Amino acid sequence: MTTTALKHVESIDRTAQAHWVGDGFPVKSLFSYHEDAAANDPFLLLDYAEPYEFQPANTPRGVGAHPHRGFETVTVVLQGEVEHRDSAGNHGVVGPGDVQWMTAASGVIHEEFHSHEFTRRGGTFEVLQLWVNLPAVNKREQPAYQDLRAAAIPTVSLENGGTARVIAGELFGATGPARTHTPMTIADLNLAAGTTTSLNLPEGQTTLLVVRSGQLMVNGGQSARGVSLVRLSRDGDAVELAAAEQSAVLLLTGAPIGEPIVGSGPFVMNTESEIRESYREFQSGRMGRLPA
Ligand code: MN
Repeated sequence: MTTTALKHVESIDRTAQAHWVGDGFPVKSLFSYHEDAAANDPFLLLDYAEPYEFQPANTPRGVGAHPHRGFETVTVVLQGEVEHRDSAGNHGVVGPGDVQWMTAASGVIHEEFHSHEFTRRGGTFEVLQLWVNLPAVNKREQPAYQDLRAAAIPTVSLENGGTARVIAGELFGATGPARTHTPMTIADLNLAAGTTTSLNLPEGQTTLLVVRSGQLMVNGGQSARGVSLVRLSRDGDAVELAAAEQSAVLLLTGAPIGEPIVGSGPFVMNTESEIRESYREFQSGRMGRLPA
């Protein structure tokens, strides 16, 4: 018989700043490597584009060609469609329920737009983008790309009526399809109003709850409502979530990498000189180019 100890609430932050990424993504930044980088290790950044209504149009909105190096971008599409193209030759449309896991590693140039179909049709758009750090030993590897379709992501029905979609790691006995470089669990939880859900989580891992919508009580104590970031202690191996309303929560747990984090814009490395080198290589075209 194992005993469980509740992780405690370290902080609940509702101060996310809203801004546009390009002309396609009205996001709130829940955290970034500019602050609390060690506390959120191995996670670097999370932008959440809340549900937003786009009118039908002819020209896709989004972000044109830009680089990334030293980490992975994980794009979770909830509503709408994102179309992606990169210098490693990957191209795809990421639709509702799909997850795109892009390992930038040594560097990619990519563009992120609303799909042509979504642009023409218009409608509600909602996405999350998470940046996951790589250990120094993996930062120079070739870029990679995982196209995780909704059907490949197991959905666990919780006894009390909610659901958990397991994207990476293990939760409720289900294993997510994402291949990760370090141990982590990423799950999209939908908790039914008036229910309590107990999660068994890894001891010693960074543990974050991104509350997209709704309102819940954490461990019978503090209340968090959307949009907010709840940071739980690495100590402990359980948390209890009581949903006062139907609540949507992205759960992130990850083993800290424990290496220096030096970031600037789209590059996250271990030293300032690696950042300067990254800008030089990008500007000289050595990080690759988008296909014409
Ligand atoms: Mn990008």
